[in-house]
Amino acid sequence: MLRNLRRIGSIVPTNVNYCTHARNFLPQLTKDRYPDVKRGDYAVLNENHLFHFVDLLGVEKVLNDPSDCEKYNIDWIKNVRGFSQCVLKPESTEEVSQILAYCNEHRIAVCPQGGNTGLVGGSVPVFDEVVLSTELMNDVISIDDTSGVIVCQAGCILEALDQFLSEKGLMMPLDLGAKGSCHIGGNVATNAGGLRLLRYGNLHGNVLGLEAVKADGEIVDCLSTLKKDNTGYHLKHLFIGSEGTLGIITTVAIQCPPRPNAINLAFLGLESFEDILTTFRKAKQELGEILSSCEMIDAKSLDVSTGHCQLKSPIKEFPFYMLIETSGSNNKHDEEKLNHFLENVMNDGTVLDGTVTNEPGKMRAIWELRERITEGLLHDGYVFKYDISLPIKDFYSLVPAMLEKVGKDAVRVSGYGHIGDGNIHLNISVPEFRPDILRKIEPYVYEFTSNLKGSVSAEHGIGFRKQKYIHYSKSESAIKLMKDIKKMMDPNGILNPYKVLP
Ligand SMILES: Cc1cc2nc3c(=O)[nH]c(=O)nc-3n(C[C@H](O)[C@H](O)[C@H](O)COP(=O)(O)OP(=O)(O)OC[C@H]3O[C@@H](n4cnc5c(N)ncnc54)[C@H](O)[C@@H]3O)c2cc1C
Repeated sequence: MLRNLRRIGSIVPTNVNYCTHARNFLPQLTKDRYPDVKRGDYAVLNENHLFHFVDLLGVEKVLNDPSDCEKYNIDWIKNVRGFSQCVLKPESTEEVSQILAYCNEHRIAVCPQGGNTGLVGGSVPVFDEVVLSTELMNDVISIDDTSGVIVCQAGCILEALDQFLSEKGLMMPLDLGAKGSCHIGGNVATNAGGLRLLRYGNLHGNVLGLEAVKADGEIVDCLSTLKKDNTGYHLKHLFIGSEGTLGIITTVAIQCPPRPNAINLAFLGLESFEDILTTFRKAKQELGEILSSCEMIDAKSLDVSTGHCQLKSPIKEFPFYMLIETSGSNNKHDEEKLNHFLENVMNDGTVLDGTVTNEPGKMRAIWELRERITEGLLHDGYVFKYDISLPIKDFYSLVPAMLEKVGKDAVRVSGYGHIGDGNIHLNISVPEFRPDILRKIEPYVYEFTSNLKGSVSAEHGIGFRKQKYIHYSKSESAIKLMKDIKKMMDPNGILNPYKVLP
């Protein structure tokens, strides 16, 4: 199907906000930090393998100098570090197919990598796996501005795609703090959620089709661009959220909504978590179809943005904050609705203070307060990060429970996240990694979540760091079926070993 589509060309990411590391240090090697994990029975890379890759791709698309390979070995939050001696940068599906066919035949383990912004250690090698980076696969293949469907290669940067779409009056249906670096293939591989899932739904709905390469090099063409297509099994869903363990996603077709003409953003200060729940309930009722994002931040998380990142809050200090965004087609209508809602929640005392704006610069500044918390937290030292779904009434309960558990060992225990989706990001920052603190946190955090019937990974995936804990959210029978599927699609286990499955 791909061959029939007209290529528009590469989107060169000149104007994106790269999501930079906050601190410059080398984390401990994963094999030393997690000595229980043993290297699988994979081939050790030799000169013949390297010569083959150079023959296949050309010398400039094969990195094997340790200093060139370093950044591909370390994850964004600097929790894990592999020691791969080889990074491959294919440009086409055919090249990906040839690489995998060869690796499968020679039992060479492969770690697929997009923008390397993943937060669960899935995107970097654990030992010496070959890294297959999609960074040169950044062609937009087609765009239909009537149906709103874009077809592009997996390595397109999310923010670059969104800017490209804005010229057509469209937008990407997902947005996240890492948008300046993450790739759409990585987003699909992790089933990324983000700031507007509340409005546009998750990628299982927005990805209309995809093309992926199986471990043995076979290209699986599920690149439908249709909204409705009930012909047999919906195989695309197997790859969405599979975190590089079932195949390498090479091309995706995404349904993109129209870019709204009118956007308004309110930043609110509140006294308690109960008030957040009340405000969220009223926002859903009173703003209805124009509500496009609903986020919460606790005081300690906002301190990270105002302190470490030196951003300015537009209101004074409160125990909790909310961001409420509306998007629609008629600003007068939306402003009226939003003002009416804000008057109500302020008059009844649910919201203590707030500011509302539709000026792009001011909205950007408010969004930065939320989006840069992840980066700013790294200035505290080492961060134990958890991405939990909980029933909405229990959303914040994990933060005080964890504070009690780790006490003075922590620099900060804080929570923020997508209240609209019941997804909290719990962060415990400490001066440096200590196994005894880890033992206080895990498995307690997962037991707590499981007791409340939550999910141990709401949107970041399982990756390397959570595979031991998947059983807290998946039944034995579901894990067995996952293992069977993995065995069927990747019998030699070369794709992203040590990740996702226990
Ligand atoms: C500041 C910040 C904010 C974030 N906010 C959010 C958020 O709001 N919501 C959210 O969901 N996540 C968020 N994340 C996490 C991360 O950005 C997402 O998981 C993102 O989707 C990862 O994309 P990536 O291209 O960086 O993938 P990578 O990190 O490179 O890879 C992630 C996983 O996908 C696999 N993979 C990558 N590309 C492919 C491919 N083409 N085919 C098969 N497998 C592949 C990798 O092997 C790995 O297991 C945030 C991260 C940061 C640093």
